[in-house]
Order: sequence, then structure tokens, then C-alpha cells
Amino acid sequence: MRDRAERAAERRPRPETRSVARWGSAERVLALQRTAGNVATARTLARNVLPPPPGFDHTRIHGALAHLKALGLPTDALDGIVDQLRFVKGGPQPSFQPGLLNDDVELSERYLSGVEQTTLDGPPIVGANPEALFHELTHAFMYFHRKDADLEAILAEARTAYTGSPMQDGSASEDPARVLQEAAAEYVGGRVATYFGAVQTLSSASAKGALTQAVVDRAAKEYDRGMAVRVYGYEERGGLFSLQTKEVQSAANIPERLRGYLDARILANRFAEHFADDPSLRSFTPGP
Ligand SMILES: [Zn+2]
Repeated sequence: MRDRAERAAERRPRPETRSVARWGSAERVLALQRTAGNVATARTLARNVLPPPPGFDHTRIHGALAHLKALGLPTDALDGIVDQLRFVKGGPQPSFQPGLLNDDVELSERYLSGVEQTTLDGPPIVGANPEALFHELTHAFMYFHRKDADLEAILAEARTAYTGSPMQDGSASEDPARVLQEAAAEYVGGRVATYFGAVQTLSSASAKGALTQAVVDRAAKEYDRGMAVRVYGYEERGGLFSLQTKEVQSAANIPERLRGYLDARILANRFAEHFADDPSLRSFTPGP
């Protein structure tokens, strides 16, 4: 049993706790507002000035992309920018972080080895979906090519199209540049996921001797539905005073010229709009 003095000491807040508690919420918000910019700046500087963070060499990334290519995915364009990037150890899902001296893709060992172990007839590996890598490398590709005459014009047009464009929550877009970036990356990732989902479904059914007409029909329907999606992108709201950001999804169609650019330049026009027009998918036929 503890004595009274001990319990009294426990109740007494420690000095740093007390000083925080004394602050009103407005003061805390202002302090965060003052430091948020500095934190972001310090992070960027640290990434560029300090010794290279632990990461993955380019050979390994080329290898992972070659593996995805062997599984039928169009990786050539994105493989072409790999040597301009650093691949550093990061969170569970990949992300692209442009910087002052280095442009980084952050990804985890778990994600990368999951991609390397992905097969067509095995179950999808949780937390290692190929579309996430396509998504982030699309951000990087557009960043590196943003001053190209063709892309610059397409981006200007798309920014206009997304300015004040409808969002899923009924509001209007406040950050058209962000919506546009995410729409482009999600479009590429979405098509990769749609195609790859169909191939994996059909391959795994085939490997198990379970490829029936119903499986093919379902895969075809899913594929056509996925490839028909045109609404992509989101923007982040809040963060300064609410202290929490939320993603608001776009409700607008991706501009056709931007879509055409992504199909041609990144996806090498690999994906047919309809299941019936893709020879590699059509080759899956139910057994007798
Ligand atoms: Zn993104």
C-alpha cells in the first residue's frame, strides 16, 4: 500500500505536462502552424544533406519491374526513370517525395519482396499490390516530364478542367493541381489493377483446373467495368487548424487528353478497353 505523499506526488503533473495543459487550444494550434512549415523544410533538407538513408539499389528495382513485365504489365516507361530516383526505406505503402537534390521513392522491404514474389496463379500478396508502384512511379514520371511541351500543355488544360470541378462530397475542388496528379496516378494504377486482377483470377482458376465459363464471364465483366472507370483523383482538406487531413474524392472525369497521354506514354497502350479485345485474356478458355 502506498502512502499519501506518494499518491499526492503522482497526482501532481510533471512540469512539462503542466505547461502544455496551461496552453489554450488556440495557442497550441498557432505553435503547430508556426512549426509545420519548418518541419517539412527540415525533412527535405535532411533527406538531401545527410548521408544516403538506407534503401534499395537500382538493380533490384529494375529486377522487380522486369518481374512485373514478365507477368504482362507494361513497365518500360517507368523503368526508364528508375535511375533518376533514389529508393529509400519507408512506410508500408510506396510514396514519391521530390526533393532539392534527390527525388525519392519510399518503400518497404516487405512491399518490394512481395512484388518480387508475386505470381499469376498464386494468391495476391497482401500489402504488395503492383498498382501502388505504378501509382508512385507515375507521379515521378509526370514530375520529370512536366516541362515537356506536350505534357505541359496537357497539364495546363487538365488543371483548368479540375478547377472548381465537382467532388464526391458535393463541394468543388480547391486544389486542382493535386486532384490532377492523383487522378493521373490512380488512372494508371487502376488500369494495372484491373488487368492484373483479371489475369490472376483466370490463371489461378486455370491452375486449379477450375476455369469454368462462369469464371471467365465474371472476370470479363469485372475487367470491362474496371477499364470503363473515368472518375479518379482526390485532394486533401484541413490539416492546419483541424489538425487532421481528410481526402475528398473527385467526382469529375479524367480529361481525355491526359488519359491519352498516360495510355500512350506510360502504359504503352497495353490495355484494351474490353476484355474481348485482349488476346492474352481471350486465350483463357474453359476446359471441357
Ligand atoms: Zn498519389
